[in-house]
Amino acid sequence: MYNLTDIGTVKEILARHGFHFSKALGQNFIVNPSVCPRMAEESGIDENSGVIEIGAGIGVLTAELAKRAKKVVVIELDTKLLPILDETLKDFDNIEIINQDVLKTDLAAIIEEKFKGMPVYVCANLPYYITSPVIMSLLESRLPLKAITVMVQKEAAQRLCAPVGSRLSGAVTVAVDYYAEAKKLFDVSSGSFMPAPKVDSSVIRMDIRPQPENPVSDEKMFFKMVHAAFGQRRKTASNSISSGMGVPKDIVIRAIEECGFEPSVRAETMDMAQLSMLSDKIVELL
Ligand code: SAM
Repeated sequence: MYNLTDIGTVKEILARHGFHFSKALGQNFIVNPSVCPRMAEESGIDENSGVIEIGAGIGVLTAELAKRAKKVVVIELDTKLLPILDETLKDFDNIEIINQDVLKTDLAAIIEEKFKGMPVYVCANLPYYITSPVIMSLLESRLPLKAITVMVQKEAAQRLCAPVGSRLSGAVTVAVDYYAEAKKLFDVSSGSFMPAPKVDSSVIRMDIRPQPENPVSDEKMFFKMVHAAFGQRRKTASNSISSGMGVPKDIVIRAIEECGFEPSVRAETMDMAQLSMLSDKIVELL
């Protein structure tokens, strides 16, 4: 078995395969030996679990997942990594690699086909250029997942895990909180990667809620309202929501009033229960 966090070993394998890192594909591979075991350990998986990994690199996290789970399916876009992974992961018989863009992959079909009857988890060191779209599509498509454990940039982690209504929260915080309970697991310094990125990272875990804590009558309208409200977060909720959603201002003002909120309330100070109440009221009044 290869030591995929030994820099000499990694350099030798990459050189032998003529591999060059692609910045555009967010290729920063973990070389700190404690990170991947800890990530796999804290992701909630066990020997009965199915795991989806996004972006294998040279397989350093993949191997740790495969040691602990029943089956691992990895979606990797870069064809040049395939012969490398064939070599580095050859000792495992529970890993399948799919050479695709994760944003164009039908994950629901993969879960159905490859993980029948298993609890399914996502665990990945995400390519940073697609952090938000990947997380949002995993959550919004309501895949039957137990938890999503991902490494993201530290600032993104702060926003994703911030309490709704706090200074750091944004539209993405509300969306994550609607579907999942997010918490930061640990920080990872930039020196843990090869090549080292400019920023530090954090590993976060999102435990999927079986049901939203504050379900809304119309999810599409709710998220439209949230995007409008946080798109112009310095404005009062009545101004940002009416202009951003294209809803008459008198309706938004009435909804705010009937919910019992201050007329000058700003959406960024509202908690999840208040945001969902306001969305339901606007839908009711429209
Ligand atoms: N898991 C490895 C590790 O921790 O060292 C690699 C992580 S690296 C940050 C991100 C990986 O995602 C790279 O292997 C890259 O080629 C792959 N990747 C980039 N864009 C992708 C996409 N759209 N779909 C699937 N994989 C992608």
